[in-house]
Amino acid sequence: MIDSIMKRLGVSHDLYRNGSYAVRSPIDGSVIGQVSLEGAEIVDERIANAQQAFEAWKEVPAPRRGELVRLFAQQLRDHKEDLGQLVTWECGKILQEGLGEVQEMIDICDLAVGQSRQLFGLTIASERPGHHMRESWHPLGPIGLITAFNFPVAPWAWNAALALVCGNSLLWKPSEKTPLCALACQALLERAMEKFGDEAPANLSQVIIGDRDAGERLVDDPRVPLISATGSTRMGKEVGPRVAARFGRSILELGGNNAMILAPSADLDMAVRAILFSAVGTAGQRCTTLRRLIVHASLKDEVVERLKKAYTNISIGDPLSGALVGPLIDKQSFELMQDALEKARQQDAKVFGGERQLAEQYPEAYYVSPSIVEMPQQNELVRSETFAPILYVMTYNELDEAIAINNDVPQGLSSCIFTTDVREAETFVSDVGSDCGIANVNIGPSGAEIGGAFGGEKETGGGRESGSDVWKSYMRRQTNTVNYSRELPLAQGIKFD
Ligand code: NAD
Repeated sequence: MIDSIMKRLGVSHDLYRNGSYAVRSPIDGSVIGQVSLEGAEIVDERIANAQQAFEAWKEVPAPRRGELVRLFAQQLRDHKEDLGQLVTWECGKILQEGLGEVQEMIDICDLAVGQSRQLFGLTIASERPGHHMRESWHPLGPIGLITAFNFPVAPWAWNAALALVCGNSLLWKPSEKTPLCALACQALLERAMEKFGDEAPANLSQVIIGDRDAGERLVDDPRVPLISATGSTRMGKEVGPRVAARFGRSILELGGNNAMILAPSADLDMAVRAILFSAVGTAGQRCTTLRRLIVHASLKDEVVERLKKAYTNISIGDPLSGALVGPLIDKQSFELMQDALEKARQQDAKVFGGERQLAEQYPEAYYVSPSIVEMPQQNELVRSETFAPILYVMTYNELDEAIAINNDVPQGLSSCIFTTDVREAETFVSDVGSDCGIANVNIGPSGAEIGGAFGGEKETGGGRESGSDVWKSYMRRQTNTVNYSRELPLAQGIKFD
């Protein structure tokens, strides 16, 4: 199965069958690939290659660079099913979500193609006669991309599509848990490059298959002016200061601890559906997964009852065969979930669900029933991100109390309110509302569209990716003052003669 998918995606057998590092599918624990982990020397060589590629690529006009991204998007359209399946095989999310990730790649490519004709700066009024001032944007250099297991393709594409049209070369270190997806994306991009022709230099995009050591090498190298890193807050705490120490730039997309405020006026049918998708989807392994439900005290019993019913009926199993909840990524993830549930029990919480499922059928895989945990209050356990389907439920009486609970966590990625009261809705998205990078009304916290800037505050890292004016992060800003007069007036009226 994997071989035929990889063949259609154009990945050479040697790249994923002959190495010593086993890649396992979380679906059943089977080995689906053997890759070679690349060490420091190879990382150094790739960075040198990326520098060379950058020198050639920045000379290609931006709208032509956009044409390469358009061709890449065509490859993605042609191979959406195969790549979506590979995502499912390698990280265990259900096929609908695997396909959704590929669609997100296509969407960002479309946005980047348009952006390639819109890398515009400003004209600025000069105080001096016969002078023009403007701001222009220029390519940055080789961009280092580090990505997490749970979104093995889309976040790379958010960065890569924009970075390419902005005139940069790419170095991608994917998660060691999902290297096959990276090899597949690289193969599709290489096909697009062949169709594009000679203007696309060799090594414009390279993949580094490696663990955190390879990531650290990339992070520390001053030849890489921007590191965009997606993963845990632990990783970001290491990467951010290292990049800053060499005056590099970073985009950090780290852990989330996302909440929903459920107000008395909410449409409960809609809210329950939204909770189900955002708390249980991707088996709770999205950075934007709903982890905290802050429900009005008057609604709590009814909502918890409805959720328990929905949770009991949800299908758990093979993500390729129509189940709505697939496996956790690995045993460690299962153990961390059990540990969190045990701590909750010790803190007088009421715990529903969370047990291992299908262990006889899949002894080497970790399926769980999603869990609902009624917490007496928000404590340290709730404040930390457990990357598994645990929904903590807490109550509130007044909106400002709910907003305070929403904000009182170290992370600041996504948040939402369900209400039909316009005052509550507007307060939530106002200056005194949610402190997160994403604040939604009557939509769950997960499932962002690519048109907006994606990312979060505080321990989520402060980075933004995808739409809005994020393209500027992949370029360097230059201020130009041009004198077209025959005089040489100095700024601020300074006389120097
Ligand atoms: P992880 O932090 O274990 O690994 C992420 C990547 O960082 C991997 O490629 C890993 O090899 C690399 N890495 C780890 N330590 C490093 C170091 N010191 N230097 C350089 N590279 C290093 O994360 P994970 O388990 O793969 O993913 C889950 C986490 O990612 C969750 O916390 C989730 O919330 C977060 N996440 C955030 C976003 C977002 O956009 N905010 C998106 C997806 C996932």
